[in-house]
Amino acid sequence: MCGIVAYVGHREAAPLIIKGLKRLEYRGYDSAGIALLDENQLNIYKKKGKVAELENILKDKKLHAKTGIGHTRWATHGEPNDVNAHPHYSHSETLAIIHNGIIENYAAIKQVLINKGYTFESATDTEVLIKFIEDIKKHNACSTEEAVRLALNEVVGAYAIVIIDEENPDQLIAARKGSPLVIGIGENEYFFASDATPIIEYTKEVVYLDDFEIAVVKNGKLNIRNLQNQEKDAFIETIELELEAIEKGGYEHFMLKEIFEQPRSIADCLRGRISSENAHIQLGGISNHLEKLSKAKRIVFVACGTSWHAGLVGEYLFEELARINVEVEYASEFRYRNPIIKEGDFVIAISQSGETADTLAALELAKSRGATILGICNVVGSSIARLTDAGVYTHAGPEIGVASTKAFTAQVTVLALMAIATAHSKGTINEDEYRRLIIELESIPDKVADILTQAEEIKDISKLFTFASNFIFLGRGVNFPVALEGALKLKEISYIHAEGYPAAEMKHGPIALIDEDMPVVFIATKDSSYEKVVSNIQEVKARKGRVIAVVSKGDKDIKGMVDFAIEVPMAHEMLQPLLTVIPLQLLSYYIAVLRGRNVDQPRNLAKSVTVE
Ligand code: GLU
Repeated sequence: MCGIVAYVGHREAAPLIIKGLKRLEYRGYDSAGIALLDENQLNIYKKKGKVAELENILKDKKLHAKTGIGHTRWATHGEPNDVNAHPHYSHSETLAIIHNGIIENYAAIKQVLINKGYTFESATDTEVLIKFIEDIKKHNACSTEEAVRLALNEVVGAYAIVIIDEENPDQLIAARKGSPLVIGIGENEYFFASDATPIIEYTKEVVYLDDFEIAVVKNGKLNIRNLQNQEKDAFIETIELELEAIEKGGYEHFMLKEIFEQPRSIADCLRGRISSENAHIQLGGISNHLEKLSKAKRIVFVACGTSWHAGLVGEYLFEELARINVEVEYASEFRYRNPIIKEGDFVIAISQSGETADTLAALELAKSRGATILGICNVVGSSIARLTDAGVYTHAGPEIGVASTKAFTAQVTVLALMAIATAHSKGTINEDEYRRLIIELESIPDKVADILTQAEEIKDISKLFTFASNFIFLGRGVNFPVALEGALKLKEISYIHAEGYPAAEMKHGPIALIDEDMPVVFIATKDSSYEKVVSNIQEVKARKGRVIAVVSKGDKDIKGMVDFAIEVPMAHEMLQPLLTVIPLQLLSYYIAVLRGRNVDQPRNLAKSVTVE
């Protein structure tokens, strides 16, 4: 959600920032803009729409700026248009700001400024902030940096900001609270960005700014202070991200690349953590907490979207294998209730980006009430990873497609590892079962690769469903969350209305929708609820519904009943979601492509939801 790229150094800032904004396009946005210090004059260029349109405006300009800030906006305050796009000028037009997040008390600040005679061009909270900063600067006759600090002490909300100052051409000021900001450190040059992707081709040395910190780059030096004006050490980390990981590598879309990467991303997630030879699981990140986890009275997963579905799979895994009571909560609901947290409870956040605002807040609440908090995140160094007592990274590599695919399977893989390790430590599974589960997990990447060989057949099936306006997805047991995930994928990228249900729930309402125009996707693998699902399929066929079924390899019975069957290899029942979700990802992808949708950047969606 929203992209920030800023640069100060010896290179041409404009092309570098535009390239960086393109790397951040996956986060979702509706307009783009750039402010450049060109011959000591601060100029802003901005435009509703894609970064390519902004690039078009800049094309004929002779730009020579070595300092600049760029932004892709995901509108929260004021519609997406040229005026509301960032950057925003201060009143004197000597300062400009880019901002990710929401200034919650902007209306009160705006009123004070209006009373002083200020006027506003945009509807944004961001313009209020920069005018507020300049007002403080004027009245306190202080530096911009000090004015930023004083202003942020008054601000309620979430922000990552970067400010450029015409009077200090080699300076950039950045700050964060609740929204991510990474600073890349090169040779006499500095980069600021919402995540590391725009930075890695220039430097691998980065500093992750913490909440309530202000970073100032001036005269080639980086200085970090907190809002109380205390100096902080810049903790420099080396990131391991390679450039090829964030490029399409010959695939038509990032989403397709990421679907096909899953044999490798699941293997990467397992690497070094699992050994069937020694029958052992080693989760370094949580090894000190494993015994306590095995004694947990309750586990609460907090998450949003696809990660919430992974949490539901986690519920089946932990309850079945480790016999621990599990609840799966929407982070946005959990944080605004008065949740009951007891001693011995574990609250585990699941988030691809590790920046999801609601999940972060839910975790903070759980921590303040004494729960042990753990995280399952993909992005190394993210806010959730840093807030939690311990956690397990999913190691899926950067996920650029907005609709999550490989991050979901990596989350489920981590949950399986955690549940099996906990069950073993608790003694709820015996050595044989432990070894069998480890062997089964190790075989998953090859089985996923096997499913992917059917991509062309799934594409052919998709062609027959591009004109559907509704879909139902049904599954039972551990495949019920997969039905929810299949429906969500289709909604996200094809804009077809889709619902997921536990198959048996169909009779309690959704069956009224079934007719020859209603495609129904069943997850109907050979497991403990197989017979029941077969009956549910019969019920749909009896009402002329069109059925696509995900079935176990060699299942001739269901094949004879349904319109289309897609086979997946056999696997331990608890691990089946890692396989059954793959055909559903491909089905959504092909339907969306055939409908002409922008699958990597579907409308209205953002990759990392950093506002609540
Ligand atoms: N609240 C700001 C706006 O609506 C920033 C939105 C963003 O994070 O892109 O302009």
